[in-house]
Amino acid sequence: MISDLDFYKNKLKEEETRLEKELSTLAIRNPEHPEDWQPTTPELNPQLSDDSELADKFEEFDTQFGIETALEERLIGVKKALKRVAEGTYGKCEKCHEVIDPKRLNANPAAITCLKHADTE
Ligand SMILES: [Zn+2]
Repeated sequence: MISDLDFYKNKLKEEETRLEKELSTLAIRNPEHPEDWQPTTPELNPQLSDDSELADKFEEFDTQFGIETALEERLIGVKKALKRVAEGTYGKCEKCHEVIDPKRLNANPAAITCLKHADTE
């Protein structure tokens, strides 16, 4: 059992709130699946836009989509770690059940594997 569990739990909670706030500016929550976020599409007006303007819009959407996906993935990781806090398995590697180095948890409170198994996350 990890000693400063509350410290990490608070860090994770803070990050969860921050990520959800950021996501809400880029995407909307799927009403049927609250865990699923759908990126909002920028306004497209093909009548008024010339081709290059339209291309810019698509590029903007592409970038936004990339950011949205990264934030969503991060949020899933944070939620997974919070679930492990609730289950009492937080701070232990998902693969080998060894205690995760606190330095690693400080750098990334959402880490659920030890350094050795970091690549398999
Ligand atoms: Zn491990």
